[in-house]
Amino acid sequence: MQKYDVIIIGMGPSSVFLAYELIKLKKANNILLIEEGKNIKERICPIEKTGKCIKCKPFCNITSGFSGAGAFSDGKLSLYNPDDDDIYVGGELHEYIGVQKTKELIDYTDQIYLSFGADTNLKGIEFKDEVKKIYDKAKKENINLISIPIRHLGTEKSHELYSLIQDYLKDHNINMMFETIVSDIIIENNEVKGVRVKEAKYIDDDVELTDIYADNVVIAVGRKGANWLTNMCYKHSIKTKPGIVDIGIRYELPDEIMKDINKYMYEGKFIGKPEPFRDKVRTFCQNPSGFVSTEVYDNNLTLVNGHSYKDNKSSNTNLALLVSHHFNYPFDKPIEYGRNVAKNLNELGNGNVVVQRLGDIYRGKRTWQNELDRNSVVPTLKAAVAGDITFALGYRTMTDILQFIRAMDKVIEGFADPNNLLYGPEIKFYSNKIDINSNFETSIKNLYSIGDGGGLTRGLMMASCSGVYLARILSKKI
Ligand SMILES: Cc1cc2nc3c(=O)[nH]c(=O)nc-3n(C[C@H](O)[C@H](O)[C@H](O)COP(=O)(O)OP(=O)(O)OC[C@H]3O[C@@H](n4cnc5c(N)ncnc54)[C@H](O)[C@@H]3O)c2cc1C
Repeated sequence: MQKYDVIIIGMGPSSVFLAYELIKLKKANNILLIEEGKNIKERICPIEKTGKCIKCKPFCNITSGFSGAGAFSDGKLSLYNPDDDDIYVGGELHEYIGVQKTKELIDYTDQIYLSFGADTNLKGIEFKDEVKKIYDKAKKENINLISIPIRHLGTEKSHELYSLIQDYLKDHNINMMFETIVSDIIIENNEVKGVRVKEAKYIDDDVELTDIYADNVVIAVGRKGANWLTNMCYKHSIKTKPGIVDIGIRYELPDEIMKDINKYMYEGKFIGKPEPFRDKVRTFCQNPSGFVSTEVYDNNLTLVNGHSYKDNKSSNTNLALLVSHHFNYPFDKPIEYGRNVAKNLNELGNGNVVVQRLGDIYRGKRTWQNELDRNSVVPTLKAAVAGDITFALGYRTMTDILQFIRAMDKVIEGFADPNNLLYGPEIKFYSNKIDINSNFETSIKNLYSIGDGGGLTRGLMMASCSGVYLARILSKKI
């Protein structure tokens, strides 16, 4: 019976960088990566040809496959501010390993990205005085502006770069199993023994599962696997902490309005806590001259996202406006809550993302397609259906977003222009946070959790760093 030193579930950046670092540490002779999606060379999103999302089966090529959600991401690698002794972006790695170690890891991982061809230019470091002026304006509105250097790959470059990493892993004899779903984890006496898999083409079929054994198993399933992971935690009593869900919209407005932010920072990370709820509202994943896109999750749940290319440019900027929702006793199902919001909104959009003009929300009316056709901000996501997102988003989320937009209008003139577009739903699912120790080991012996899925990270750089860090831990025991 073959037994691996390590099995990694999922092949997103966290997993890929774990494998990379194990190669560097000469400990990668007997490891296996399992991914339900395709290898990167076969990952193609047909929307550019078809004009609308055809809901690829068995899995969405945007969210699944080698390099996970990273392949079609905008590839903004968030670094850190060397003058700040905290880290605000990308997740909570520093709460487990400390700020200094996290900064060192970011530097190290950034060098790996550079060695595979990432752009050597950093955005957000040249215009200190201009950024300070925007920071001061935001402060007056009780909005915090986080300014950190960003390395921007661009969507086409991300794909190319991760493709090179896939070749590198292959050349170093890493075992990679594609189009294979990990359906279950084998746990005996509170210790992990391996995983149970089936071919992705049998996604909806009740076929016999194949057991694969390993001394260590790493869960690296990203947000795509958050729902599955929640089920696993419930089934195997893997300890969790109450989680959050980020619910909101993708906002699209002319580059002209965002020109200062785009020029001085590339991505402005604004965080506020508007009255009356004082929920955390933040801007996220800003894409200058970018395109709004869709991503499809289990059961055809269709969410909105955004990206930008290095060469192909639109005249709009898009960014997410997200509200963090924490739930208290007796409700502890943030994923289910988010899924219900998304499902309702998808139904309103006939299975698609819904788009609405800000001015129509103020006027208390839906947006009609003929109005959208005449709108000065031309939507870059053609598949979005004109409608009314306020039917589904909920009073609390909607109020948070509208209050935040109003406050941001005083920082960036035109931010609340009635022609600006809101697309929904944009939701960031994290499973209930997995309870891990400082070695990222769960309450089950030799079962580890890294990346976005278990709630440790929220972005490419931190997810990649979590993989590098775990490789160093595992290398001491294999
Ligand atoms: C359109 C888009 C744009 C983005 N832009 C940015 C950006 O500019 N900057 C940034 O920092 N972040 C961005 N992100 C987020 C970033 O991509 C993620 O934070 C990052 O990819 C998380 O890495 P991960 O390894 O945790 O998981 P993921 O990249 O999500 O990978 C998880 C993998 O696990 C696989 N999987 C899940 N369950 C199973 C299972 N049961 N069996 C087998 N395989 C499974 C999935 O198919 C997936 O391939 C973007 C995301 C999207 C979708």
